[in-house]
Amino acid sequence: MTIYADNAATTKMSKTAVDAMLPYLTECYGNPSSLYTAGQKAKEALEKAREEIAALIGAQPREILFTSGGSEADNQAIRSAAENGKRKGKTHIVSTAFEHHAVLHTLKKLEREGFEVTLLDVHENGIVTAEEVGAAIRDDTCLVTVMTANNEIGTIQPIREIGAVCRARGVPFHTDAVQAVGHLPIDVGADNIDLLSASAHKFHGPKGVGFLYAKRGFPLSTLIEGGAQERGKRAGTENVAGVAAMAAALKESVSHMEENAERMRALRDKLIAGLSEIPHSALNGDARCRLPGNVNFCFEGIEGESLLLLLDDRGICASSGSACTSGSLDPSHVLLAIGRVHDVAHGSLRLSIGEDTTDEEIDYMIQNVKEVVEKLRSFSPVWRDLVAGKAKFIL
Ligand SMILES: *Cc1c(COP(=O)(O)O)cnc(C)c1O
Repeated sequence: MTIYADNAATTKMSKTAVDAMLPYLTECYGNPSSLYTAGQKAKEALEKAREEIAALIGAQPREILFTSGGSEADNQAIRSAAENGKRKGKTHIVSTAFEHHAVLHTLKKLEREGFEVTLLDVHENGIVTAEEVGAAIRDDTCLVTVMTANNEIGTIQPIREIGAVCRARGVPFHTDAVQAVGHLPIDVGADNIDLLSASAHKFHGPKGVGFLYAKRGFPLSTLIEGGAQERGKRAGTENVAGVAAMAAALKESVSHMEENAERMRALRDKLIAGLSEIPHSALNGDARCRLPGNVNFCFEGIEGESLLLLLDDRGICASSGSACTSGSLDPSHVLLAIGRVHDVAHGSLRLSIGEDTTDEEIDYMIQNVKEVVEKLRSFSPVWRDLVAGKAKFIL
């Protein structure tokens, strides 16, 4: 048995998305910049996808820019806002301590270039408030960037309220919505969003393709110089097959969003209830205000990496921390941001279930995580000290 419970890292492509992709990998392989019919057919596919994607998030087609994924969209959004700000003498940026590295590392780089970045603390529940964002905005703030939903602990941020605060203060608002698009309702107008990043492989589309929404009139800088594709804002021959598949995947995800979310929330809550029975464990992030598929726990006295390996032996694909950090010995910056101490943050497990996760799989995961945690604790010196009273339990 293999149970895929790492949908926050990537998702399986849907059949609809694969089918939408195939014609552009086979007979319809023209370059959209070519003037003959085969090229124009590819161009039409691209523009149809742009219209469909725009409609699904309440945007205009001309506001959608295709990118190589979420990371590129994050980089371009932030860099554009920073460069616009700099021209007006505004070099301050507000963000949070638990953003994705595509955001945090871009901000780090901007700091080295002379920008000042305020990273807001995140509460224990993994949610920042619009009031806190408002309080951090200054006269020289050129950008607020706060993710819609966190990729590790799944907590959902009050982006509509944050966007309203930004709008009232005249500050552009970017949101990394990679975990949210296709899973939560998004309307860039109602949600007061100026810039939004999304990635196809997080909603059953292919890897290596995503999009950036930029509100009409927002000046974008280029990351990649070359031809005049994407209105001159992103050079390079377009990933026609990937874009067509992304539009098909998003359309499908959005059309089943409500029913999928309802079923996944019930399974998620069952999994949370089951894992909560493990002594000295704790759910990370708010129990209610979280993505329908996200479960993230800390178990005291064990190492997340060992837990993953033993779960893999039992056919469960899970994660501890984000995929980008795994392999490094640093605990997750997200868990540290919500106030978990190092030792506890090391013993973390993320199970991100998907639309086709079954009730039986939830039972299997609960049973096996319980057994594996117990097994690891039985030969953990840290656990022995805790039980012997030589160290204090935190959870
Ligand atoms: C996956 C992810 C990204 C990166 O997207 P890619 O398409 O893999 O570059 C950025 N932000 C968040 C929140 C993510 O979950």
